[in-house]
Amino acid sequence: MKKQWTGAEIRQSFVDFFVSHGHTFVPSSSLVPGGDQTLLFTNAGMVQFKDVFLGTDVRPYTRAVNSQKCMRVAGKHNDLDDVGRDDTHHTFFEMLGNWSFGDYYKKEAIAWAWELLTEVWGLDKSKLWTTCFKDDKGSIPSDEEAYANWVKQPGIIPEQVLFNGRKENFWEMADVGPCGPCSEIHIDRGAEYCNKQAVPGHICRVNGDCARFTELWNLVFIQYNRLSPTDLQPLPATHVDTGMGFERIVSVMQGVNSNYRTDLLFPLIQTVQRLTGHTDAEVAGNFTPYRVLADHARAATFLITDGVVPGNIGRNYICRMIVRRAARFGRKLGLGEPFMAKIAQTVIDTYGAAFPDLRRNHATILDNLTREEQRFQRTVDAGLGRLNELLGELRSRGETVLDGQEAFDLYATLGLPYELARDEARDQGLDVDETGFRQAMDEHRIASGAGKAFGAQGGEHVDIFRGVLKNLIAAGKLTVEGVAYDPYESLEVKDRLLAIVKDGVSVTDAEAGDTVAVVLSKTCFYVESGGQMSDAGSIQSVSGPAWEIAVEETRKPAAGVIVHIGKVTRGSPQVDDEIFAVVDTQRRWDIMRNHTATHLLHAELHAVLGEHARQAGSLVAPDRLRFDFTHPEAIPAETLEKIEAGVNQAILENYRLNTTIKPLAQAIAEGAMALFGEKYSETVRTITIGSHLSEGGSHLSEGGSHLSEGGQLLPISYELCGGTHVGETGDIGLFLILNEGSAAAGVRRIEAVTGRGAYEVVQRRFKALKQSAALLGSALEDVPAKAQALLDDAGSARKQIQRLRQDLVAAEFVRHLAEVPFVADVPVLALVLPNADADTLRQMTDRFRKQYPSGVVVLGSAVDNRPALIACVTDDLVKRGLNAGEIVRTIAQVIDGSGGGRPTLAQAGGKDASRLQEAIDQVVPIVKAKLK
Ligand code: ATP
Ligand code: MG
Repeated sequence: MKKQWTGAEIRQSFVDFFVSHGHTFVPSSSLVPGGDQTLLFTNAGMVQFKDVFLGTDVRPYTRAVNSQKCMRVAGKHNDLDDVGRDDTHHTFFEMLGNWSFGDYYKKEAIAWAWELLTEVWGLDKSKLWTTCFKDDKGSIPSDEEAYANWVKQPGIIPEQVLFNGRKENFWEMADVGPCGPCSEIHIDRGAEYCNKQAVPGHICRVNGDCARFTELWNLVFIQYNRLSPTDLQPLPATHVDTGMGFERIVSVMQGVNSNYRTDLLFPLIQTVQRLTGHTDAEVAGNFTPYRVLADHARAATFLITDGVVPGNIGRNYICRMIVRRAARFGRKLGLGEPFMAKIAQTVIDTYGAAFPDLRRNHATILDNLTREEQRFQRTVDAGLGRLNELLGELRSRGETVLDGQEAFDLYATLGLPYELARDEARDQGLDVDETGFRQAMDEHRIASGAGKAFGAQGGEHVDIFRGVLKNLIAAGKLTVEGVAYDPYESLEVKDRLLAIVKDGVSVTDAEAGDTVAVVLSKTCFYVESGGQMSDAGSIQSVSGPAWEIAVEETRKPAAGVIVHIGKVTRGSPQVDDEIFAVVDTQRRWDIMRNHTATHLLHAELHAVLGEHARQAGSLVAPDRLRFDFTHPEAIPAETLEKIEAGVNQAILENYRLNTTIKPLAQAIAEGAMALFGEKYSETVRTITIGSHLSEGGSHLSEGGSHLSEGGQLLPISYELCGGTHVGETGDIGLFLILNEGSAAAGVRRIEAVTGRGAYEVVQRRFKALKQSAALLGSALEDVPAKAQALLDDAGSARKQIQRLRQDLVAAEFVRHLAEVPFVADVPVLALVLPNADADTLRQMTDRFRKQYPSGVVVLGSAVDNRPALIACVTDDLVKRGLNAGEIVRTIAQVIDGSGGGRPTLAQAGGKDASRLQEAIDQVVPIVKAKLK
């Protein structure tokens, strides 16, 4: 009997196969690309190797293999449209890949791909088709090399090796940069798979758009560097970059007709089926919503695990959209209650062994999903209802595309994501203007990130500094390793000035006033990374004419190069001058205190709020630290105090910090905290605080370290970190939280100060307190009580003034009440009273009515320059056509105001107090006219 492979075995056998051919296994990076603001999500295996192809980084290996978590739901790669409709495209999927960085090339890549598919996995050779590049525009050479390699594979059918043009078989990372031809491997799943039989003239073929042929694997051969649309230069070193759809190969190997029927996704389908209670036939007959639910639940689960929670902007928007889209399809299946958490549970059960992070974040995942579904439930009917009204109007106007701004308003006001509005519109044969929607969203500045695969990161200076590096190596001034970087041991170095770059050009000397970037053979200046800011400092000549550069920051523009950027403050530096470089020590100490405090804060957040409170961003500056973390709600003041106290306790314990270099896998296995959006190499630097590993702080047993379940003493903090830290936590001095607020949906932000910064805050606040005490004539501790007493006094004084004011108004009013003029037979009192509030005015009208059972009273007054009017007409006069509401509305216009009320009593406010008398003067004429 043929071996039945599980998905997990297939993943592992892919990795094992390439490891046996000298590849290093590199774990999947996060769905959030490390250090790359230009890309919303990791969308291919090569994303984490981009900088190797660009030459801005080098790795300790030249062959790599992995299975990479990918999302194709935004930007250049967006498969959302297909998800649900076909059996081969997902939003989230895994991509199996092998890489050569200037190592092997087409011959090996092709032979290994063929061997793995046909020998190791035993696929039927006659079913496989492969493609090679032949330029449809005729300017790039055909990939005869790939063709020659394919046709010599054992058992291959040469007629099934095809040539295709640029669209299918030429791969480019961006408008410029590394690129090259590719070869795809497709499988013929058999005539019965064709879903286009009803389409006239349809012929089943590779890239022929029916389900019979499925693309499995793409082998990209990077051999050119594109400089412009017409200029293609050969690369000195060629690379291989491959990507195979994991779910697709599993579906082929398990002999099922859909990725959703593999052991990866079918458990999710079954969970949905349990929720709906449908029969197998009913599921098969209505498979689209099942696919969507399985796909989206899996995607959202992995997103949340990687720190992307439902929200309004950028990546978070995508997570929200996916959950809401699933919710909408769930409703189509008749699911009324939140259900995503139940499918997510199955995702965690199915994938937990391969992705332990899922298990660790179990509670966060389920909680986020359910909350988001509930949020959506509250608005979905309103959103879809309003959308259907708009679509109805559209149809009645004979149009088919809903305006993007209107779609955006639906999202902004009713939480209906564009993608859902579009789905619904398309169900009705209509559409939504996507460009307009994105524009409206941009205008609200809530879109972010999605864009080209390549952004500024490559930078235009890469080439210059690569050139500089090459020349320095050739001249024997630098080793091939490049600039030696050690910001940990010392804060000063003696060296020679190796290169000066000014205005993007390498020069031999510079003048006072110039801004320059200079290269040394070694440096102790920290280069911004992991949120910790670059060092500043100074570089000076040691012998010869004196000069100095004030270094403002450092950067790493290309692999092996570190530059110090700053201004020449005196003299003229020359290449080859002997120098002395020194870091601004006080500033660096401020930074180190803040960095260590950040680790303590992170640990304390875990202890107090829970494991879900994970780092989502961090800034370690000299004057403060800023820490963003995932947490659904504002933190109450007492909790914040508790967190602050916890960090200060750890400072007092004076724990020693311990730095070790170890393999990434080991650190992760030991429970070290790794961060989202960070890129780690195979060996990592770890920082532990307060544990037996560090031979303890001064009082090891209390408060800090804790015992694990197994009775092992654990550090209070264990993080992967390349930053610089204090030696003992006591060096931090003091930690003060300045504020806590929202950074984004589901993300909170704490800002804090330490050391000198904290002392300054304390001093400033203390001074203010002393001044207050002096003003109040009280002891410091009594300031709150004294202030409260003063406030109470002021309050009762204010009340008293109010009463006196009313008495004055009443006295004035009574004077007028005695001599009310008559209009015909009706007493009409129209009067401006100084300084009467609304209450007082109403009391006055009551007094009028008591004295005049039939009459009209209209009063105006202004308090703090804000005018108000009140009118009162007795019932009998209402019958004679007088109306308080009408009177007030008419005269309110004079004071730039509006108002109304009943025919017997009405009020108005206004803006122009200076015209109050003018308004009141209109009353008598109005009454006169009415009574005629
Ligand atoms: P397709 O034409 O099928 O969309 P592609 O050309 O976009 O594929 P590549 O960018 O070359 O695919 O990605 C490499 C491999 O990843 C593909 O050969 C395919 O097996 C798989 N793949 C691509 N997109 C998806 C997706 N949305 N879901 C699952 N697998 C995918
Ligand atoms: Mg595609």
